[in-house]
Amino acid sequence: MIILVINCGSSSVKYQLLDMKNDDEYSLLAKGIVEKIGLPEGRITHKPTGKDKFVSDLAIPDHTVGMKLVLDALVDPEHGVLSSFNDIDAVGHRIVQGADFFSESALVNEDVIKKIELCCDFAPLHNPAHLLGIRAMSEVLPSVPQVVTFDTAFHQTMEPYAYLYALPYEYYEKYRVRRYGAHGTSHQYVSGRAARLAGLDPQNCRIITCHIGNGSSVTAVRNGKCVDTSMGFTPLEGMIMGTRCGTIDANIVPYIMKKENLTPDEVTDVMNKKSGFLGLSGITSDARDLKAIADKGNEKAKVVFKKLTMDIAKLVGGYIAEMNGVDMIVFTAGIAENNAFIRTDVCEQFKFLGVKLDEYANEHTDGETIISTPDSSVIVAMIPTDEELVIARDTMHIVTALQ
Ligand code: ADP
Repeated sequence: MIILVINCGSSSVKYQLLDMKNDDEYSLLAKGIVEKIGLPEGRITHKPTGKDKFVSDLAIPDHTVGMKLVLDALVDPEHGVLSSFNDIDAVGHRIVQGADFFSESALVNEDVIKKIELCCDFAPLHNPAHLLGIRAMSEVLPSVPQVVTFDTAFHQTMEPYAYLYALPYEYYEKYRVRRYGAHGTSHQYVSGRAARLAGLDPQNCRIITCHIGNGSSVTAVRNGKCVDTSMGFTPLEGMIMGTRCGTIDANIVPYIMKKENLTPDEVTDVMNKKSGFLGLSGITSDARDLKAIADKGNEKAKVVFKKLTMDIAKLVGGYIAEMNGVDMIVFTAGIAENNAFIRTDVCEQFKFLGVKLDEYANEHTDGETIISTPDSSVIVAMIPTDEELVIARDTMHIVTALQ
């Protein structure tokens, strides 16, 4: 089954075309990104597997034009990988916020669209863009079924103590203010892969997954289900991130608003886009660049990495207590997949529990790798995440069930 996976942002569309034989046998046919939609100078970068990358600069006024460009690239005689649009069997979309409407992926219909619209308040930057993507795809491929996969769905198994804030209960009832989490697709995928890699029974084990990228979250997974996660009402809560502050004393918000004369939108922008690595270092949000600066002795950059390590360790420690122990700790996403020192520094905090890293394995990870020693009290692994694969699998299952 040929599945087009779409991750639609407000000004960009990332895509992957996968040929799915079954859950484990599949091939990536092409991937790419359409950028700067709505701006005078747009760009599509298309990478067919086994062929050269193709880049075209042109104005892309809206998402429908963007989607048409993606489809044209896929069937292009030179750079394409399909002979016709009709070869696409289904489209799967990543959706950031499904609130408590969705605990699993769903086939797109009017009711589903209405619910995604209702969730726009909780993800004003993301959900409206996803809807544009769904509508654009309905226009260009009207007869192809579409499926939506939610970043929040995996976290719907949290119990009230974990998802409720200690605010007046009426805010939960009136405004749905509660913790929803994010990166659920990634946490679900890597925890499943991790159990398989370590030979654990996924239905009978406790795993803590650390998704450490530009956005970062840590999740406690017991018997294949999310028990707790560090992101909350929005993906701002939790640990330090590239440009997000993570959890702070909420009283800081009105205090800074008064001192700096900021509107609610402005202070939201500061917390989401000007804080984290960028805000603390005053230099960059990019971990790779910041590490090079820290290695040259920059004190602020060093503090960022110390805080990053301790934020992760404090979450992992909390989740160990919450689950009465842990069988496996897993690292994934851009920062944790590519930086052995972060994995070392976090595991160092759990030495007293008998966590032991195999330094050679940790320094030489190659795809999914167990990085703990055989006598470590907890198995530790690095698992590259693959959210697109989860979306493609869910899409395949839902569309197959229709037939
Ligand atoms: P996003 O949340 O945007 O999906 P990613 O998971 O791609 O983010 O992570 C991006 C972060 O990972 C950046 O801070 C980047 O510097 C870091 N990163 C990516 N590749 C490497 C690498 N090879 N070495 C060190 N850091 C990396």
